[in-house]
Amino acid sequence: MTALEEKLKARIAAEGPMGMDGWMAACLTDPEHGYYTTRDPLGAAGDFITAPEISQMFGEMIGLWLAQVWMDQGGPAPFVLAELGPGRGTLMADILRAAGKAPGFAEAAQVVLVETSPALKAVQAEALAGFAPRWVERVEQLPEGPLYLVANEFFDALPVRQFIRVEDGWHERCVGLEGEGFGFATRPVQAPELDYRLEDTAPGDLVETCAEAAKVAGEIGQRLARHRAGVALIVDYGDVLSKGDTVQALRAHAPVGVLEAPGEADLTAHVDFGALAAARGPAEAAPLTPQGVFLERLGITARAQALAGRLTGAALSEHIAAHRRLTHPEEMGRLFKCLALHPSNTATPPGF
Ligand code: SAH
Repeated sequence: MTALEEKLKARIAAEGPMGMDGWMAACLTDPEHGYYTTRDPLGAAGDFITAPEISQMFGEMIGLWLAQVWMDQGGPAPFVLAELGPGRGTLMADILRAAGKAPGFAEAAQVVLVETSPALKAVQAEALAGFAPRWVERVEQLPEGPLYLVANEFFDALPVRQFIRVEDGWHERCVGLEGEGFGFATRPVQAPELDYRLEDTAPGDLVETCAEAAKVAGEIGQRLARHRAGVALIVDYGDVLSKGDTVQALRAHAPVGVLEAPGEADLTAHVDFGALAAARGPAEAAPLTPQGVFLERLGITARAQALAGRLTGAALSEHIAAHRRLTHPEEMGRLFKCLALHPSNTATPPGF
């Protein structure tokens, strides 16, 4: 039995079954044994791969997009260039390389990374050595100022609660003890915040909520409105309305049971973009747009062709596959969505 398994068993024995949110939070960010606390999980040798790790084109498109929005808004200086959950720092490095072509952008940008993982902070420090980044642990700790923010595959790591519809209300799906290991349990709960889901669900249906995601979206919306400049780009998998159990565990690029390897597998849930947009407070939300459509509108195919001219053989084949993977509807193009939040006094950003 691992140290985290022991800790979780003792906690359930003392306090009773825990919500899926407690389980996810402990598995991912336990300060000693959490999945993200202890390792760099990204890449071929890790457990999963993300868009910026697939191709530099992803970060380049987003960097040029940020620079365009910043210029369209009159180029406020200084500004906060923030990323939530920056992983290996690859996305921010590609953003800075591409956006750095816009005069004044790099000089005005104060790079701030929101990260809890000591292991990943070290990797980010290396990737972004030339840009003097600062780290904070939560969005509320970001410095004040016009905020230009990106978050790729951050919200899917935030803990969700799961509710199963019964005739006139909800039961919460929890994690309890079962034999030598863990098992699912349910308990009746009051969930007035889910009244609006009684309309579109039937007994037996499962819905998920993410209080942390709503809190983060609200904080971003407040900041955008307060400074009347800035933008936030949220990219993740999910859709406008949560329905069904979407919590999944990945280890070495293969699915494993959600209760199987606490702290050793990545745990994620689909993002409910409807709930996220609804929590944005005083900011505007641009229409939710599939990643493939967004990247095509920004010109990824022209960029792919320019890069292809310098490649041959296996490198060329890999590059073509990467373009397809990022944009094609059967790969990441449709499952992944882009949500942009912006102050109501500013124009809808390009690409939406
Ligand atoms: N955006 C990167 C990495 C995605 S993995 C990419 O696209 O490659 C998720 C990232 O979010 C990791 O950096 C992880 O350490 C961070 N993270 C997870 N939960 C977090 C939390 N509650 N607060 C801050 N960062 C978190």
